[in-house]
Amino acid sequence: MSRIEHDTIRPGATIGVLGSGQLGRMLGLSARRMGYRLATLSPGRDTPMGQIADLEMVADYMDLDAVADFAARVDVVTFEFENVPFEAAATAAERVPVRPGGRVLHVAQHRRREKDFLHEAGFPTAPFEHVPDRATLDAAIARLGTPCVLKTAGFGYDGKGQAVIRAPEEADAAWQSIGQGEAVLEGFVDFACEVSVVAARGLDGAFAHYGVTENRHRDHILDVSIPDAELDPAVSARAIEIAHGVLEALNVVGVLCVEFFIGRDGSVVVNELAPRPHNSGHFSFDACVTGQFEQQLRSVCGLPLGNTQRLRPSAMVNLLGELWSAGEPDWARVLDDPDLKLHLYGKQAARPGRKMGHMTVFGADREDAAARAIAAREKLAGAAAGTR
Ligand code: AMP
Repeated sequence: MSRIEHDTIRPGATIGVLGSGQLGRMLGLSARRMGYRLATLSPGRDTPMGQIADLEMVADYMDLDAVADFAARVDVVTFEFENVPFEAAATAAERVPVRPGGRVLHVAQHRRREKDFLHEAGFPTAPFEHVPDRATLDAAIARLGTPCVLKTAGFGYDGKGQAVIRAPEEADAAWQSIGQGEAVLEGFVDFACEVSVVAARGLDGAFAHYGVTENRHRDHILDVSIPDAELDPAVSARAIEIAHGVLEALNVVGVLCVEFFIGRDGSVVVNELAPRPHNSGHFSFDACVTGQFEQQLRSVCGLPLGNTQRLRPSAMVNLLGELWSAGEPDWARVLDDPDLKLHLYGKQAARPGRKMGHMTVFGADREDAAARAIAAREKLAGAAAGTR
């Protein structure tokens, strides 16, 4: 039997997911469609993935007995959240395949290790300095110059745990604001735009990608993603080539997103890695022959990868907790656009900045799709403001 046949996790098997947020939910929806069973382990109850899973195990990730019990009840383990402790993945791996493997998690969950990996493997990054403590910060600022960006080494997410330093005197305030732990200092990149490449690698080494997606952020949180960024084809090809290289170098079996800064001179700089489906790939759920979650399922199950072809021009906008400020938004107001796909994650508490859902809208071209997506969200925001 070939390796791929031997390692194939077939429909009917149970997919175990460490983490239980919207990424697990959308993986689960894709997996359900193909006849798989689902289990999730996280500290939360009635979670986005738990709501659609056969089993929602509630435990801390460091409760390794619970993780072992979980692993014994599933056929393969993946994760939807890279801050799962490495020990949990290692415990699961004693019983079942964990895909992608623990090294990917280990590298991507810690900014210092991620930067070192990228640098040593020859991938382009902004200049950076390790800052293990406050005492080393001033010299690091002097070496990199200002402006620069101080980021926590571990557990950063959506721009949390980072501070821009515009002058050396701001060192103290920045150090306090990120929580005074181990950090990485990066040169500030004066980018023309931010893009990402979501890609998958199969158990047999096959590679598939979703092109280069343009990402617009608001308050450091992804706001709008528009596939097929309008870049010089050589720049797009370079970004895809780097993404392919990263998946190969880390021997990823699964989906991984590389976020990039594109310089005004066309330079391509890696910002960070996410070893899982990514918010900037959500459009693919509706707008591609095979969405990123089905692709994650296929890769972690050792199945052939699906076609990533984009079916129609589309754009995605996030729905953050602010939209709930006057209660549940009136979804009927946006569903009057027949080309709009509404995704809600089933989260109960709508805190500002919390990702509650997203909308993918089709259009005649990417700008039309983006304009329609933004207009639809403005309708919801206007209604929330109007009834306040
Ligand atoms: P991150 O959490 O590292 O992805 O950062 C969130 C956002 O902050 C990015 O998407 C950028 O918009 C901005 N940012 C982060 N690092 C830098 C940098 N070195 N130079 C300029 N902007 C940055």
